[in-house]
Amino acid sequence: MYRLFVNGSLGSNYKMKITKKVSYGFSLSFVVLLLSACLLDGNLRWNNVIASEPNDTALKLHRRSVYTMGSLLNISIYSESDDRAERAMEKAFNEVDRLDWLMSNYKNDSELSRINREATDRPVACNGELISIIEESIRFSNITRGGFDITVSPLVKLWGFYGNADGDITGNVPSEDELKKIIPSVSYKNIKIDVLDSDNWSDRTIFFKNRKTQIDLGAIGKGYAVDKAAEVLKKAGITSGLINFAGNIYAFGSPPGRKDWVIGLKDPTNSDNIKGAFRIKERAVATSGDYERFFIIDNKKYAHIIDPRTGMPVRSMLSVTIVSEDATTADALSTGVFVLGPIDGIELIESLDGVEGILIFEDRNGNVVENMSTGFKALLEKS
Ligand code: AMP
Ligand code: MG
Repeated sequence: MYRLFVNGSLGSNYKMKITKKVSYGFSLSFVVLLLSACLLDGNLRWNNVIASEPNDTALKLHRRSVYTMGSLLNISIYSESDDRAERAMEKAFNEVDRLDWLMSNYKNDSELSRINREATDRPVACNGELISIIEESIRFSNITRGGFDITVSPLVKLWGFYGNADGDITGNVPSEDELKKIIPSVSYKNIKIDVLDSDNWSDRTIFFKNRKTQIDLGAIGKGYAVDKAAEVLKKAGITSGLINFAGNIYAFGSPPGRKDWVIGLKDPTNSDNIKGAFRIKERAVATSGDYERFFIIDNKKYAHIIDPRTGMPVRSMLSVTIVSEDATTADALSTGVFVLGPIDGIELIESLDGVEGILIFEDRNGNVVENMSTGFKALLEKS
């Protein structure tokens, strides 16, 4: 199978475009740091990840990046055997390709695209794994009181975040009327899942109660893919590695000679900068940022995370970073907490076991401030 391995060149839809009235942004910071991977104080550094350079050990660092699911997937593993490392990575990349076929709403022939076409008419049988991901998403909608909602898709489209054939955001500020028409279709409560055969719980159908309801797994899919890729790597005998899928990270084992992995916290006001560092092991980290996808019209910035309850892109929140036990949770919660805002967001994080986080936002006076959970503070202090 042909794969695009990223080796210093950028995919064609990684473009920054400025026009007179509208400007479009797409985070290049990830790529910039990847390209400038260099040795810093004996540490290998790429993206926001700092790993130790192996010494006195037969373990060798193997790194590969591919462009998949519209983003860059970077896998780094330590292994004594080149063969084992290559085979493990190939399996992990294949797993992510499989999940792309399942969850993509860009690919017309994906299982999700079929569901989006058919479930508006009638209950349709659906791949069991996809149904489980949708059920898990509904669970996160309940936890975040609707802040996270995979039925946000019609709003993402209306605001022009899906982009044109080249992947460029088209950017559109809808009228109140347009928003009013779309909002009833946006609710996880419009998703109806039924068990077809009572003897076989995995035999389920899905139906959208509103004809305009559509699902977008963009806020949870990459996290899920990271968890599944980690499972594949571990099964293939890899004991130490780090997966970074466009800011959705899972780290297991540790680099040789170290107890854990060091993760840099991006400064959302200048995402080439690192604000601080913290250590993790067998943990996931995800960041949702307003700098990732946005457009500017008449000096107003509109970023890609939308409050499903109002239909409006969230304002003033700059970034949310979540640390949790698995990447699915980190991904869903970073988006959900982004919508909830600094007060409700922190309250939610504090109420959940095994979840920590930091929110960076602009206060009423335009000052950049941070709110973090007590556990996250401890993580930063330890590092
Ligand atoms: P993330 O980068 O994980 O925060 O995901 C952001 C993407 O999820 C957006 O580009 C949209 O496709 C989609 N999205 C936007 N707002 C929401 C929301 N409130 N809940 C779930 N998905 C969303
Ligand atoms: Mg997310």
